Amino acid sequence: MSVHALRCTNTLSRALVVLTGSRVLRRRRGRGGGDFRENEDQAMVSMPTLLPTSAQPKTAKWPVGRSALEALLSEIRACRLCEAHLPHGPRPVLHASATAKLCIVSQAPGLRVHETGLSFNDASGDRLRDWMGVDRATFYDSSRVAIAPMAFCFPGYDAQGHDLPPRKECAAAWRERLFAALPPFETTLLVGGYAQAWHLRGHTAANMTETVKAWRTFAPRYIPLPHPSWRNSGWLKKNPWFAEELLPYLRKRVRRVLRD
Ligand code: SF4
Repeated sequence: MSVHALRCTNTLSRALVVLTGSRVLRRRRGRGGGDFRENEDQAMVSMPTLLPTSAQPKTAKWPVGRSALEALLSEIRACRLCEAHLPHGPRPVLHASATAKLCIVSQAPGLRVHETGLSFNDASGDRLRDWMGVDRATFYDSSRVAIAPMAFCFPGYDAQGHDLPPRKECAAAWRERLFAALPPFETTLLVGGYAQAWHLRGHTAANMTETVKAWRTFAPRYIPLPHPSWRNSGWLKKNPWFAEELLPYLRKRVRRVLRD
């Protein structure tokens, strides 16, 4: 379904929500939220019926089990599946717990992350933390924040010295199992096109920019973001709405999720 079609369906869903759930909306508005708050509450009610089943948060019995998640994380950390294609060798890096409320889905570790075993332990991470309005202690508190890249190991560089894309084997082997074992997140940040393509299956726009531009369609459950790499500084200049409109919402939403 295209973003345009999704917006139309959302409009219908929201009309139904207003008809059938006006008491809920009135109560939430009464707590003093502004435009974003209203948009947030409407989207929270309507989006679960529209996203693909595998991308929906789990409402059935959860937790699957703290020990089941820990066993799966140990299995992933021992993975050597695509070792032959990893010039620096396997070192799966992810951060998760049974209590996290916010998830960050990124692309794949870079060299510094590979060396330190800490996701976003670089200039991109500094920029992402600034976008989110959190310090390092909060960002790396895995009891509240999970970080699950599309591939868990550094894939190496291409001929131009750019990071290679995340290895596809990784998502195929682990992603469904991992997200079945993780807790239901209140908000998931989708950093970059690979994360958006997998988690918003069939609902992305023509390209990453258009998908990020349509963030109100997905919020608050999902917030699509560009990669915070310095390589995207030109993109940020060309798209001032990102800093003016999306970032204030992102900071407010992160604050709310981590406070509750
Ligand atoms: S990238 Fe994923 S599939 Fe490949 S070795 Fe690392 S954890 Fe395993």
